[in-house]
Amino acid sequence: MLNSRIVDGTEFVVFDMEWNQPIYGKEYDIDVSVLTGEIIEIGAVKYVYENGLLTKKGVFSRDIKPVIYNKIHYHVKKVTHKTNSDLARGVGFAKAYDDFVKFIGGAQVLVGWGSSDTAILKQNLKFFDMDDDLRIFFLDLQPIFSLFGDEKGKQRSVEFAVDYYGIVKNEGFHSATSDAIYTGEIFEKIFEHNKTAQVLSAISSSAIDPDIVSEYSIVGSPAKDIRTAFEGVVHFWSKCPICGKDLSSKIGRFKIRKSEYALLFCTSHGEFFARSRAKKNRDGDYYVSSVLRLATQNDYYLVACKKEEFDKFGVDGAPKVEPEKQDEN
Ligand SMILES: [Zn+2]
Repeated sequence: MLNSRIVDGTEFVVFDMEWNQPIYGKEYDIDVSVLTGEIIEIGAVKYVYENGLLTKKGVFSRDIKPVIYNKIHYHVKKVTHKTNSDLARGVGFAKAYDDFVKFIGGAQVLVGWGSSDTAILKQNLKFFDMDDDLRIFFLDLQPIFSLFGDEKGKQRSVEFAVDYYGIVKNEGFHSATSDAIYTGEIFEKIFEHNKTAQVLSAISSSAIDPDIVSEYSIVGSPAKDIRTAFEGVVHFWSKCPICGKDLSSKIGRFKIRKSEYALLFCTSHGEFFARSRAKKNRDGDYYVSSVLRLATQNDYYLVACKKEEFDKFGVDGAPKVEPEKQDEN
């Protein structure tokens, strides 16, 4: 929850990053699990808010030379069209980040598409022994777009949102800078097309402090049947992961398709979004991963929508019309 109000003059920095990945089977001197992606590009656009609209103030772009994963992963190459010689032309991460912090200046909120960028940024800062506190609020624009674009609970791509608002496609996608520019234009459109008070309220209730751990997860033991697998993680939802107090239910636990949901409540820490998902391992056993996180407005909608669907259609959910994207965390 954003504690300072958005007023005329409040600045936002919309950003995007690209990162290279370790190549499977290749030997590295480091434990690759502590650096799952090494940043190779940061792109950003600064906006100032005034009177219900956003005005663009400047663009930032840095290519970064990776030092650990210095050969481009084929998947990253396919998506970004970057080559090994492109990577070699970048500046060092410390220099690029320093410039980025200067560009952010006094902005109050970082804005991204999806929640993975801040996690990767903090991971890189930690890995390179730099201060990994970002000291700025973070807003994931993807659920805000879904909320106002009548796509609640769906995870849409930047390109989908660009088409939705009829934004002119002057550049390609999947460079950090072009994606940051497009994300900024989507942000502008959200303000243009909706009531200011509603947009500000959605932003304030969805912005998070990325320096505070707000998400907790466990993976249960494998079980032969799906019910036992779910029962194995149920205890995780009984106590607040921050203070240990008993959690009460605002929306009681229910199962729809292969997931269980609930909206839980701690008297000290507020609402928690709770979701468990069953997957099958290679042996054909079920295992359940379960997450608890401080609920954003979008999380609240997600649980409320699933509950509505459950009340109407039961455990199998609504008959599917189109394949739903299921890559959210
Ligand atoms: Zn608590």
